[in-house]
Amino acid sequence: MRPIQMVDLRSQYLHIQDAIDAGIREVLASAAFVKGAKVNDFATHLAAWLGVKHVIPVGNGTDALQIAFMSLGLQPGDEVITPSFTFVATAEAAALLHLKPVLVDVDPDTFCMDIHSLRRAITPRTKAIVPVHLFGQCANMQAILSIAHEHGLRVVEDACQAIGAEYRFTNGHTAKAGCMGDLGCTSFFPSKNLGCYGDGGAVFTNDDSLAARATQIANHGSNVRYHHDMIGVNSRLDTIQAAVLDAKLPHLDEYTRARQTAAAYYDHALCGNPHILLPGHTPDSTHVYHQYTLRLVDANRDKVRERLAQDGVPSMVYYPVPLHKQTAYTGNNDCPVSEQLSGCVLSLPMHTELDVQQLEYICTAVLRAVNNE
Ligand SMILES: *Cc1c(COP(=O)(O)O)cnc(C)c1O
Repeated sequence: MRPIQMVDLRSQYLHIQDAIDAGIREVLASAAFVKGAKVNDFATHLAAWLGVKHVIPVGNGTDALQIAFMSLGLQPGDEVITPSFTFVATAEAAALLHLKPVLVDVDPDTFCMDIHSLRRAITPRTKAIVPVHLFGQCANMQAILSIAHEHGLRVVEDACQAIGAEYRFTNGHTAKAGCMGDLGCTSFFPSKNLGCYGDGGAVFTNDDSLAARATQIANHGSNVRYHHDMIGVNSRLDTIQAAVLDAKLPHLDEYTRARQTAAAYYDHALCGNPHILLPGHTPDSTHVYHQYTLRLVDANRDKVRERLAQDGVPSMVYYPVPLHKQTAYTGNNDCPVSEQLSGCVLSLPMHTELDVQQLEYICTAVLRAVNNE
């Protein structure tokens, strides 16, 4: 059996090595390392795949969030509502712009923004809602968009973990993660579902004027070289990364299916154990399983992780401290569900290269560890 890893980028690369290497060689030969043709090619291909009007490639997912907030013209002191149980980047990008991240609780089953907490957090200073499609399935966008409409708020989706997840509205209309709000953001960090071999990210939007603003902001606030109409940033997807992504995009559906197959195996093998709650799955969204995350019940998580490690099974805790408990983000309301989750979640290996032998081995090890056998 191949050693088990949280993420196996090397095996994935070896399967598509010819296409990747050819793409990179092409960039080397052209020497167009920044703003090469591949960047636009990839953006066009991704926009078509997502069914969104504009994809603006940027340097990373955190930049994408910052550029999205800047594109909306949000001002210092404006409040943006975002979940506490997530990676820091969403709140960080807001705080850097002197916006006020207002942290709200999440649903204990789906790990995504809780709608009651969202409603309670709205004040006259609220300007935007920033749901995070955590671990690979969409937040309750039907409710979020309707609340935003009701209160005249903007919506920026953090789709860094959910590229390709598809949301179904009650009227039957479907849309991909990141393509439902005013703007969506994604990351191409290597371990993300569509990852490059360095840093990368993108902003998505169906709004022509927001797309124009985001493009300009990402380019030093400039449309015409050396003319700067607004303050911007320098945030670019480099051409080699675009070549990697363009070679991987045709495989994304197959990668998602591999993740879903692994998740289904976990669900089947681990269900019914009194120490394990399986990840919840909303019927409104497909799940692209960036992470497969259990909740442990009456089990010592550190001990379980130690036992797993002894058996050669890596595991991770996403996320051990909710944002409202972080020193940099204190002063927010309590989020009891986020706190509870931080104490009991456990993410198992999840990637495109897991085989049945590995999955069987992992599940046996998990059951032994939680049963303390
Ligand atoms: C990865 C991630 C980001 C940041 O992406 P980078 O490319 O690392 O800057 C933001 N939000 C979430 C939810 C993420 O998972």
